Amino acid sequence: LSDTDTGDCVVVDPGGEVERIGRYLEERSLRVKAIFLTHAHIDHAGGIVALMEYLEKSNSVKPPLYSENEFEIEMRGSISRQAAMFGLPEGEYQNAPEPDVVVKDGDLLDVGSFRGRVIHTPGHSPGHLALYFDSLTFVRSVSPIEGQISSDVTETGSVLLAGDTLFAGSIGRCDLPGGDEATLLSSIREKLFILPDETRVMPGHGPDTSIAIEKRENPYLRSE
Ligand SMILES: [Zn+2]
Repeated sequence: LSDTDTGDCVVVDPGGEVERIGRYLEERSLRVKAIFLTHAHIDHAGGIVALMEYLEKSNSVKPPLYSENEFEIEMRGSISRQAAMFGLPEGEYQNAPEPDVVVKDGDLLDVGSFRGRVIHTPGHSPGHLALYFDSLTFVRSVSPIEGQISSDVTETGSVLLAGDTLFAGSIGRCDLPGGDEATLLSSIREKLFILPDETRVMPGHGPDTSIAIEKRENPYLRSE
């Protein structure tokens, strides 16, 4: 998330590719004010330490880590085990550090011009957090006809960073430690589907979607 007026930004879920993140920050002269973690799976948390080291080396201030600190503790300390499980080189990923700012359901991420509301959405992982903004300006790719070159439009509205709860046409996997499908479906129905229909959903993987589209079309959640 970046504020183009002030250069302040928040990095969400740096799973890896820290040099690519660093290039992005440098090209746009952004200052990282916070790192927010939705959950401590390796593909979301495995790059936190490396990113902090990178930022310290490039003379920036080490940003505070915002994360949950009740249900994700075990997961946070198991990153190298997760690497082994997925056949990834263990040395490249470090355990996620303890949060500097502990957040839980209902808390505000209040950083620079960003005011996001933290929503505890267990199911994919026990301490999973989504982040909701009443109003953000974002760029959306629109292709008028399938197969045509898409163009970018700028819109302002409510935005949900959904992590690995809700995807376009799918939901997060529930077969990893601490996962539970019934819990995930309740999290989505009771905590995400009550958000405004037009809310832009930006999942942790895959294309954007909206609350309205997923209520209507998601095969895991359609009400019979
Ligand atoms: Zn995950």
